[in-house]
Amino acid sequence: TADISTISEKTLSSILEKNRTYYTQGKVADYIPELGKMDAKAIAFSVVKKNGKVFNVGDVQKKFTIQSISKIIALMIAVSEKGEANVFDKMGYFGTDQPFNHFSNLETTGKPLNPMMNAGAILTTSLISGDGEKSFLKILELLRYITKNQTLDYNSSVYESEKSTGHRNRGMFYLMKNNGLISGNEDQLDNYFKQCSVEVTAEDLAKIGYFFANECVRFDGDAKYKNAEMSRLIQSQMLIAGMYEFSGEYARTVGLPSKSGVGGGITVSVPGKMGIGVFSPALDQHGNSAAGYHMILDLVKQYDLSLF
Ligand code: GLU
Repeated sequence: TADISTISEKTLSSILEKNRTYYTQGKVADYIPELGKMDAKAIAFSVVKKNGKVFNVGDVQKKFTIQSISKIIALMIAVSEKGEANVFDKMGYFGTDQPFNHFSNLETTGKPLNPMMNAGAILTTSLISGDGEKSFLKILELLRYITKNQTLDYNSSVYESEKSTGHRNRGMFYLMKNNGLISGNEDQLDNYFKQCSVEVTAEDLAKIGYFFANECVRFDGDAKYKNAEMSRLIQSQMLIAGMYEFSGEYARTVGLPSKSGVGGGITVSVPGKMGIGVFSPALDQHGNSAAGYHMILDLVKQYDLSLF
């Protein structure tokens, strides 16, 4: 295995080219109609290292929606506002063998399994204070801070598409309201749809991965949110449930806290070292980017990055 100091755009580029055709083994998500329009062949790979240096290869300008990766940002805000004990009084720290949109315990214990699956994530966003769009704007502001990218915003067509077809998410929202976990109105669900519709690049994802890998210190060294406990909590949730029902096997093959989204992005934290962002919209059977997973796997093997 090679030393991570030798990671360069050349090494990333050879990994990308090797895995470029994996998209043929996946399928672009189309349960949200607007997502179905994505170019299945698009692919990007980004790494942010300790000195803040960014390495980008592939379709680096290509924007896609962050989707489920926004759940870790919402969790950070909810926990900073309410405290970990209050948030996790309403949901579990559990892993799962069920897909992202499973009703995950709402009918049995009444509480979502974890904040990474849709049910727990919708609840998490509802716990962030503020009326109307305010809690979404907090999520957007934190994303802009972490990525140092003030241009980040949500894609209104994807948002409208999610809002008009997200009946399953709406069902979870009302079941949790029925269970006494959610007190607000449907604006809170709209905030969840908006946070999922924020457009990012692979580089933005690498910077998010870096932030949680380094005690919530930004890639350029800004330590305004430095918080070792918070990064431990977020990374532990990424590890146990960030890759949906594939998380357990992924912990063996990749062995790093990671969060994927149905837009085709995956963000990876290499604790204390670096952040990785990948993008390729064709998803495998578990809803994770097919080519993205294989690029991460190759990088991890080549540089011995697994925690285990
Ligand atoms: N907005 C998506 C949904 O709620 C996010 C799912 C995901 O990325 O896993 O269906």
